[in-house]
Amino acid sequence: MKGFAQRALVSDVLPWLRKQAVALEQESTPLHKLQGRVLASDVTAPIDVPSFDRSAMDGYALLADETEGASLYNPLTFILSGESLPGSAFDGQVTTGTAIRIMTGAPVPGGATCVVPAEHATESEGIISVSQAVPHGKHIGRRGEDIAAGQRLLTTGRSLRPQDVGLIASLGLAEVPAVRKPVVRLVVTGNELAQPGGTLLSGQIYESNSVMIASLVARDGGVLDSPPPYLPVPDSRDAIASELIRPGADLILVSGGSSVGTEDHAPSLVAELGTLDFHGIAVRPASPSGIGRINDTLVFLLPGNPVSCLCAYDLFAGEAIRRLGGHASAMPYPRQATQLAERITSSIGRVDYCRVQWTDASQQRVTPLAISGASILSSTTRADGFVIVPADLEGYPAGADIEVLLYDVSAHQQDNGP
Ligand code: AMP
Ligand code: MG
Repeated sequence: MKGFAQRALVSDVLPWLRKQAVALEQESTPLHKLQGRVLASDVTAPIDVPSFDRSAMDGYALLADETEGASLYNPLTFILSGESLPGSAFDGQVTTGTAIRIMTGAPVPGGATCVVPAEHATESEGIISVSQAVPHGKHIGRRGEDIAAGQRLLTTGRSLRPQDVGLIASLGLAEVPAVRKPVVRLVVTGNELAQPGGTLLSGQIYESNSVMIASLVARDGGVLDSPPPYLPVPDSRDAIASELIRPGADLILVSGGSSVGTEDHAPSLVAELGTLDFHGIAVRPASPSGIGRINDTLVFLLPGNPVSCLCAYDLFAGEAIRRLGGHASAMPYPRQATQLAERITSSIGRVDYCRVQWTDASQQRVTPLAISGASILSSTTRADGFVIVPADLEGYPAGADIEVLLYDVSAHQQDNGP
């Protein structure tokens, strides 16, 4: 057992990682799987939307000119000659002196030049009394007023939002090309790990990294290669090796056993089965992290300590997953400029991931959390966010202007499968 001779600089790791983690191939993707994916070609409208003139109100379609002078004291009358319903058009023409009953979304028949809303008309025994003059074109949604055929609506590279997917559906497209979602395998190692819900034997702890990481993977647009529960893999070379060589994953996250202890098998296995490009990185916490490749699969060795695990995910693995899915690299935490209430100490050459809390309800300043050891997961739930101290600083003095990355991400991406 030998400690780390030296630790890789984050400024060397990230450029390497960005070169390795490039967007996966595109695939034709059905509507219900598009949310949160990245569009791989432009979307151009094949049709006008709507594709016919339609009523924007429930009321009566007639000739606008004929309503001139209509008022409550001078209602004008029309003969009801038919009805147009959504999906069931009136197939005749609207002629002088006639009106047809029409509902919102129904086709406006030929000849009609406006729709009189129901609240300005009464209907009795086949006669419509109109009590308001309505201008030409009023309450008619024209063909193509929403989208004109040939219009480019969404461009390649866009992370699709729910309303984007709705728009694609409105064009009649059942699928469009999108970047494939990276398939992520979670390998949770540790002989001491017990499943939540089971009994805790002496010396055991409940396994908590998998659920945390699984939801971050979903947030970042990855999809896990097997459903929960994520049963721990024993600290055995054979068991870990078989998870590393099993095909089917674009990226493997190994939790635990990433360091230099006698039970830490993953680093040497990655080095034997592929390349262990980095082992030991100058970050706090999470310095016993590793990154390598086995064939085309990126492998991240995340320390088992929950805070280190989160930090290593946030700093390295999350970015790789986002990039494989074609998403922007940046951490998806909202950023806010603020002031530090107390100093943070760091070392030159090391990047610190420092959990902080709003100092008071006014949210003007943040305080670093005193209990910030790597095993103190509750420090991350007490924290409102974190501050990254770059490698070229020895920390920040009290009062420093800093940027906090806030843990509260309101938009959770839906995990809708591969
Ligand atoms: P390791 O990285 O395997 O040396 O583990 C470091 C510490 O994290 C040990 O105290 C482990 O018991 C703990 N640990 C490892 N894996 C997990 C996990 N999945 N959930 C919670 N704690 C863990
Ligand atoms: Mg371990």
